[in-house]
Amino acid sequence: MEDCRRGMNTQGSSGDTCKLEFAVQMTCEKCVQAVKSSLQGVAGVQNVDVSLESEAVVIETSLSASEVQKLLESTGRRAVLKGMGSAGSQNLGAAVAMMAGEGLVQGVVRFLQVSESTCIIDGTVDGLSPGLHGIHIHEYGDLSMGCESCGGHYNPEGNTHGRPGEVDSHVGDLGNILACDDGRATFRFDAKRVKVWNIIGRSLVVDEGEDDLGHGTHPLSKVTGNSGKGLACGIIARSAGLFENAKQICSCDGITIWEERDCPIAGPERKKGHTSYSHL
Ligand code: ZN
Repeated sequence: MEDCRRGMNTQGSSGDTCKLEFAVQMTCEKCVQAVKSSLQGVAGVQNVDVSLESEAVVIETSLSASEVQKLLESTGRRAVLKGMGSAGSQNLGAAVAMMAGEGLVQGVVRFLQVSESTCIIDGTVDGLSPGLHGIHIHEYGDLSMGCESCGGHYNPEGNTHGRPGEVDSHVGDLGNILACDDGRATFRFDAKRVKVWNIIGRSLVVDEGEDDLGHGTHPLSKVTGNSGKGLACGIIARSAGLFENAKQICSCDGITIWEERDCPIAGPERKKGHTSYSHL
């Protein structure tokens, strides 16, 4: 499955660039040079700004956050994503969903409104069976009964279920993400009908099976894409944009961002009661 490493979903890559702010452990000018050369000449990387003093790297890119993190960490240094912002001067809003669910399925998905007409959706979900999994924004941010209480696909226009971008589809229809053999799906794509300000407080759900995009023969095809039950879900919460997050230590559990890098990002292994999203 070669597509699973390309950081896309099945709709293809995101064309718009955004800025990613990483904290990277750097102690000297040599570190700065190593970080710069890890990004040099990489397709999809446009501008790189490295600050040794603040141990910060800001990159304008069309790559997914996980791809950039891999490049930075190829230098042997740890990198943590601190913020995501629009490449222009507009700050139209950002949100994050911490995905947790049955077993080991967990992940983080970020939403960044880069213009009135484009929301970049960037995420990593682990613990999936290899293959395609439907992913949708659901109407309610209610996890009282797990993914079951999230309601239907977010559908303010009263349409039938379909392919993302199709006129007659739910706004919440995001298509499928592709998990590799190791169970990880990484993706980044543009959603043209999703507006961050309309989805905060709703939920994001990753399903057991493939979304047939409304073109199947099953009776549920035109309702849900027949993608089976929700495996992991998360409430979509407002998050910090670029440079809005000055903290190096997460106040919620006192661990530093470097230690946090090695902790599970969500799910039962994460300390209970950890409800702050401020470090994202
Ligand atoms: Zn739908």
